[in-house]
Amino acid sequence: MRYSRQRELVLKKVAALDDHPTAEEIYEIASRESPGLSLGTVYRNLNVLADAKRIRRVSVPGHADRFDHTLREHSHMYCTCCGSVTDVELDDAALLQIIEAGAGKIEDYSLTLFGVCGKCRGKSSN
Ligand SMILES: [Zn+2]
Ligand SMILES: [Zn+2]
Repeated sequence: MRYSRQRELVLKKVAALDDHPTAEEIYEIASRESPGLSLGTVYRNLNVLADAKRIRRVSVPGHADRFDHTLREHSHMYCTCCGSVTDVELDDAALLQIIEAGAGKIEDYSLTLFGVCGKCRGKSSN
């Protein structure tokens, strides 16, 4: 991967935001430091970084992709109330066993749970 100052900036912001930001959120923060930066450049760099496995892409069906600097395998929960994405640890050994029993070798996976986060659940309880 060729060195690019903008790419390094994008990478740094994904780590700094630390809460699974969208491309727009990364663009907003990064463009303060690099005024010439365009949203298209941010998207392109995020794709290159994700393909190179420097960051992880978190797909949320029906919503904008999120980006994650935590590289180890883990799953996510999307809050349908506030739109936050949080890390969840699942018992993946059982999951992988189920998958591998019927399919080939699993090299990577991502799972997104949909629900209501702890903060929102606290607010709506009555
Ligand atoms: Zn929430
Ligand atoms: Zn994560």
